[in-house]
Order: sequence, then C-alpha cells, then structure tokens
Amino acid sequence: MTTQTAIDNFVNRCRTLGLSVTPQRLAIFKALIDDHSHPRPEDIYKKIKAEHPTISLATIYKTLETFEKHGIVSVVTHLHNTVRYDPITEPHHHVVCVKCNKIIDVIDPSLNTIKVPEHILQGNELLGYSIHFNVICSECRLKETN
Ligand SMILES: [Zn+2]
Ligand SMILES: [Zn+2]
Repeated sequence: MTTQTAIDNFVNRCRTLGLSVTPQRLAIFKALIDDHSHPRPEDIYKKIKAEHPTISLATIYKTLETFEKHGIVSVVTHLHNTVRYDPITEPHHHVVCVKCNKIIDVIDPSLNTIKVPEHILQGNELLGYSIHFNVICSECRLKETN
C-alpha cells in the first residue's frame, strides 16, 4: 500500500467513524504510517513538533488512544513500560531486542495457525495472539563483542 493510499483510507475511515480529520490527527497518522520502528508517543511527538509547534504530548497520547479504539493503529502490548504503536492492524508477530528495545515485524502465515492449548479456549473467548521472539539483536551482539 502506498502512503497516499494509506492516507486516503485513513480519511475515509475517519469520515465513516464521524471523526474529524484535523491537521494534527493527520500529522500523527502520517508520522506513524511510514514508521516501522513501533514508535512511542514521545517519538511521534519529536517527529512532528517542528511542523506542529502547538501540539502537546497529551494530545498525541489521546489521539493514538482514539486511533487504537477504532482499529486505525494497533498496540504492541505495553512493552518496556511504555506503549508502542504499530501502523499494521492485521495479526502479526514481533522480534523484540531485550537490549535496545527494537521491535521488528514478523509477518509469517505459518505462525497464524499454531494449535492453541485447549485450556485457553475453555470458558474464554480467544481474540487472537501475538508471538514475541525475544532476542539480542545482531547490532547489540556486535556491540557486546567489541
Ligand atoms: Zn538490539
Ligand atoms: Zn508490528
């Protein structure tokens, strides 16, 4: 999907939901759509505050929460004491570096068909699952050996 298509989809989605497409909301969405680092709200703030000097970190938190509630973005659980946002809303998995907190997407259909243990399905409604492969990434390993 191109960035422009993603933006068009976003605008249409907001219209359907009755959310107004303010310049700030658009800026937050745009900052996220090309960012596959799974940024924190603080990272998005740093990216857009030059162009939007009146925006506050609280607005970014609130806007991302609104986006998440409506399925416009997703959350990679609350890892490392901070919420990390994800422009990908389809089910997928992550490689997480325990040293530098880098999160990399893993999109592999074979991981979407694991056998869920029976006891998890008893009495619960399974909404989905996401696998985290915890690693020390190649960059961090290089730093360790130097
Ligand atoms: Zn690392
Ligand atoms: Zn992801």
